[in-house]
Amino acid sequence: MPPKVPLPIPRCSAKIASMTAEEKTVLARFLDLAGDYIKDGYAKDRDEYAFEGDAVVPAAPAETAAKQGDLSSLPLAYQMDEDEEDRTAPNSLADIAAAVTACATCALAATRTHSVPGEGVENPLVMVIGEGPGADEDASGRPFVGKAGQLLDKMLASIALSRDKNCYIANMVKCRPPENRDPEPEELAACFPFLEQQIALLRPRIILCAGRVAAQSLLKTSQGVNALRGTRASFTPAGGGETIPVICTFHPSAILRDESLKRPAWEDLKLLKSYLEFEE
Ligand code: URA
Repeated sequence: MPPKVPLPIPRCSAKIASMTAEEKTVLARFLDLAGDYIKDGYAKDRDEYAFEGDAVVPAAPAETAAKQGDLSSLPLAYQMDEDEEDRTAPNSLADIAAAVTACATCALAATRTHSVPGEGVENPLVMVIGEGPGADEDASGRPFVGKAGQLLDKMLASIALSRDKNCYIANMVKCRPPENRDPEPEELAACFPFLEQQIALLRPRIILCAGRVAAQSLLKTSQGVNALRGTRASFTPAGGGETIPVICTFHPSAILRDESLKRPAWEDLKLLKSYLEFEE
């Protein structure tokens, strides 16, 4: 917790001296954040603080709760006025990536090397959603870069798709589950808002769920991939908006383990392609 000490006020700071405590808090937090990004490239986890006059004090418990995800307890100044834009909503993929990088909501934060927000183009035809980063992704901070990722890239290329040109690739959870275990329900729930924000910003023409975990979590079903593949499901973003078609297929890791899944996966890719062509 930062000590309660008066800040040295520089000579040129008549403006700062006339700022309210709330304005000073906003400015100081902004400068901290900017400093973190310039120095280390990510927002550091630090205790919330505020100004009282010129002294720095620990933030009110409500703000600390808000940092942990409970936005309803934020002071009114940070909440949405009726006819005002939502200041808490991310404006860009970079905002979401920064929030993912700073996130410590679930246990996976403690064991990750890098979080893996996702990558691809900003107006994708297809958003591919996998399960969660593996060892290679955890080491690099990029999704689907290991053996399964290389197969995914080949699968996409076979229908003229790629993360460089027309796809965005993300995962249900943004941090690696240890030993590549399935993400726990509370980990999926903690990470889901990031995925929803990504979908809302990207507005892909279609979503491709790779594997059981992605398909079941996105579609809120207990059906397996065999039951879900071969038809078009849909995802309705939180807060409404246009429904997005969803196609499910096998996870590339499953295809690597079991060659017999290649043919049905190819059928799924052809189905995806036909929807894209139909909607052109
Ligand atoms: N498997 C996934 O589900 N996602 C990745 O990013 C890598 C492997």
